[in-house]
Amino acid sequence: MSLKETAGPLLLQPATLEEAWRLRWRHGFAALPVAGGTLLRTQWENGVLAPPSVLLDLRRIGGLADIGPQPDGSLRIGSQATLSAVLKAPASAGWPLLREALRMIAAPGVRNLGTLGGNIASAVGDSLPALLALDAELEWYDGASLAGQSLEAWLEERRAGAAPERRLLAAVTLPAPGGAAGAAGAAGEAGGASEGSGRARAASGNGAGAGGAEGACAADFSGGHASGGRWHAWRKIGRRESFTPALVCVAAAGGPAAPVGAPGAWLRLAAGGGSAPPQRLRLAERAALAALAASGDAARAAAAAFEAALTEYAPAGDAFADADYRRRCAANLAAAAVWEGWTARGGERR
Ligand SMILES: Cc1cc2nc3c(=O)[nH]c(=O)nc-3n(C[C@H](O)[C@H](O)[C@H](O)COP(=O)(O)OP(=O)(O)OC[C@H]3O[C@@H](n4cnc5c(N)ncnc54)[C@H](O)[C@@H]3O)c2cc1C
Repeated sequence: MSLKETAGPLLLQPATLEEAWRLRWRHGFAALPVAGGTLLRTQWENGVLAPPSVLLDLRRIGGLADIGPQPDGSLRIGSQATLSAVLKAPASAGWPLLREALRMIAAPGVRNLGTLGGNIASAVGDSLPALLALDAELEWYDGASLAGQSLEAWLEERRAGAAPERRLLAAVTLPAPGGAAGAAGAAGEAGGASEGSGRARAASGNGAGAGGAEGACAADFSGGHASGGRWHAWRKIGRRESFTPALVCVAAAGGPAAPVGAPGAWLRLAAGGGSAPPQRLRLAERAALAALAASGDAARAAAAAFEAALTEYAPAGDAFADADYRRRCAANLAAAAVWEGWTARGGERR
């Protein structure tokens, strides 16, 4: 461990997770984990959080930034991997939904410092809806061992007001592409995949219910279809075109894209944005699948997803957008994603 004398907080730089945990205990959990520091710094500057007396710098811990495919075809990403490193890693090419979400976080300078672990541990990062739609599993260190927990379960705890997380996030794992569990994983693989992204200007009355958000919004849409029939979509609405956290973001993954209503249809929907932890939209998924099975009509499935998402999604309002605007916006984005996915029209807008 190295220890740095600074004018500000005491900076502790452990070399292993075990050492990090011991140091956290020694300081009565007042030692705050810091990865890239990009979110923490804005929180200190905005007065959301007081700078701590002790900082636990995780960047020197060996192996924590590794990104690699696993023998079962899953992808394991160490919590200290930067957003840029995940974007550039050849191993992440099979998970285009995650890449698209990361590409729309902040700007390159911030992505070069900010980590995926910091984005996840914040419980409000824009990567989270995509990770939810990909059935991500978190790996936590609690001082004794590494333990897995589904991202969805962890976020539900946060939404229910669980005490601040004390464990250290070691990694996140994405299941292998190739079916419902792998969500849209293979959509970026070579051979028949179509993928792309676009930007659109959307007024605050963009079908999400007028007047809930201050000023005009910028929207990012991307998605793609794969030869295996899987599809994915990513939607982010922010207060400006880039360099800004989402007011609303929605991730979707499903299949098969054609024929519409084919047996074995599956769907993942998740929404986030603002200060409430993101949420998997299970009611909307079930409603859309039931409508698709009953009618074979993607438009009916989209309408069913819209109605159910309005009921189940519970975002928080703030000075920038009220909760009702976010809810309606998310329901519209989810419906659009469902319709585009199942009609294989994800590329039309681009
Ligand atoms: C200009 C600007 C634009 C931004 N735009 C976006 C945006 O569009 N979307 C978005 O989501 N974010 C945005 N951010 C916020 C931030 O850059 C990202 O969320 C980034 O991924 C955070 O990662 P970090 O490594 O910097 O986290 P840090 O700031 O180091 O930490 C964030 C939180 O996670 C905890 N933490 C970090 N690592 C661990 C770990 N391994 N175990 C346990 N706890 C841990 C920290 O204690 C802290 O509470 C923006 C920031 C700036 C400055």
